[in-house]
Amino acid sequence: MNAFPPHNRTLPPSDGLTEAERARILAKAAAFAPPSMQDAEGRRELVGLSREELAAEMVAMGEKPFRAKQLWHWIYHQGARDFAAMSSIAKPLQARLAERFTIGRPGVTTEQTSTDGTRKWLFAFRDGQQVETVYIPDEDRGAVCISSQVGCTLSCTFCHTGTQRLVRNLGAAEIVGQFMAARDSYGEWPTPTGEDRRLLSNIVVMGMGEPLYNYENIAKALTIIMDHEGIGLSRRRITLSTSGVVPMMDKCGAELGVNLAVSLHAVTDELRDEIVPLNRKYPIAELLAACRRYPGASNARRITFEYVMLRGVNDSEAEAHELVRLLRGLPAKVNLIPFNPWPGAPYKTSTPEAVNRFAAILNDAGYSSPIRRPRGRDILAACGQLKTESERAKRGGAA
Ligand code: SAH
Ligand code: SF4
Repeated sequence: MNAFPPHNRTLPPSDGLTEAERARILAKAAAFAPPSMQDAEGRRELVGLSREELAAEMVAMGEKPFRAKQLWHWIYHQGARDFAAMSSIAKPLQARLAERFTIGRPGVTTEQTSTDGTRKWLFAFRDGQQVETVYIPDEDRGAVCISSQVGCTLSCTFCHTGTQRLVRNLGAAEIVGQFMAARDSYGEWPTPTGEDRRLLSNIVVMGMGEPLYNYENIAKALTIIMDHEGIGLSRRRITLSTSGVVPMMDKCGAELGVNLAVSLHAVTDELRDEIVPLNRKYPIAELLAACRRYPGASNARRITFEYVMLRGVNDSEAEAHELVRLLRGLPAKVNLIPFNPWPGAPYKTSTPEAVNRFAAILNDAGYSSPIRRPRGRDILAACGQLKTESERAKRGGAA
C-alpha cells in the first residue's frame, strides 16, 4: 500500500566482496541501534513506522488497515500530535488509539535564531541523547540540516563531531522527528500544496554523523518523508552527504535516489588518508567510480562535492587543477566550504583570496563552485559545537 514506490532501480552488478562488505556495515549499524520507541506506560510511538507497520498495528487492535491511511494523513500531512484532533476518526477510537500510541517529537533543549535567520535546535530524545538540527534559509526557500547519529565513528580531523565518539544511531522516528519539529517551529503544517509558500523546502542530511553507517534508519525515514500522501518532499529536494562509504552509495542510489553530496576535501590519497581517515578503506579512485555509477548523475542531477577550505593544507591552485582533472566527465558541482573553526581545531580557514582563486579555476573549467557563506556564526554553527557547549554548561565548566 505504499503510495510512493521505491526508486525503481536495481543495484549495479557487484562482486561478492561488495555484498559481504554491505552486510558487515549493516550488522555493525545494528550494534548501535536506538532504544525502543515505547514510553513508560508502554505506548508505542507511531512516528517512524512504515505504512506497512502502521497498518499491522491497526490490524493488531482489530481495526481495518485503512485506518493507517487516515492516521498517516493526520500525522504527516496535517502534523497532528493529538488523536483528539483527528476529526475523521470517531471519539471512541481516538481514545483507544491514545491508550496505545503516542505521536511524539524530540524535546527542544535549546532553540536559537541567528541574526542571519539561521535557526538551530538542540533536540533531546527519550534516552537523553541529543543532536543538532539547523534550518538554513535561502531567498525563497530553505533547507533543514538533519543529523543521522549521536556522534560519529569516523574522525575527520577538521570536524567537531569527529572529536565525539559514536554513541548510537538515530532511529527513523528521531530522524523524521527532527524535520517535523522544525516544521512545528515554523508553523508549516499542514503540508503546503502546489505553489504555497514553503520555507522548509529542502532537506540536507549533513548534520552530525555518517548517514550511510546508519543506512536502514535513514532509508526508512527518508521514505516516510518522500511519501506524497504525507510530508511529500521529492527526492530531488533531499541531499545526503557521505564521507564516502562506497558500498552503501550504490544501495542509496538504487533504493532512495536522493541527491548525493560527497565530502572529498582532498585530491590526493595521501592527504585524504589523513584528514578523512575513511579514505584508507575507500580511496579516491573507488569513491569517484561509485559517483560515476550513481543513478541519475545527469546534468540536472549533479553530484555535489564538498571541499572544506583549510589554509595551507588543501587550498593551492595546483590542487584546484588536480580537482578539475579528477572530476573530468562527472556531472558535478563543487561546494567550497570555508573551514568553520571550533575551539582547539588544528586548522585555520583559507584566506578569501585563496578561496576565490580556487573557485575561479573550477569555474573556468565549467564546474559551478559556490562558496558557502558562513551561517549562524553567532550561534555556534559549526557541526557538533552547540552540543559540546551545552554539555560543558551542564558540567558547570566555563566555555
Ligand atoms: N558525515 C557526513 C555528513 C555530515 S558532515 C559527511 O562527512 O559528509 C557534513 C559536511 O560538513 C561534510 O562535508 C563535512 O566534511 C563538513 N564539515 C564538518 N566539519 C566542518 C567544519 N568545521 N568546517 C567546515 N565544514 C565541516
Ligand atoms: Fe563524521 Fe562527517 Fe564529521 Fe567526518 S565530517 S567525522 S564523517 S560527521
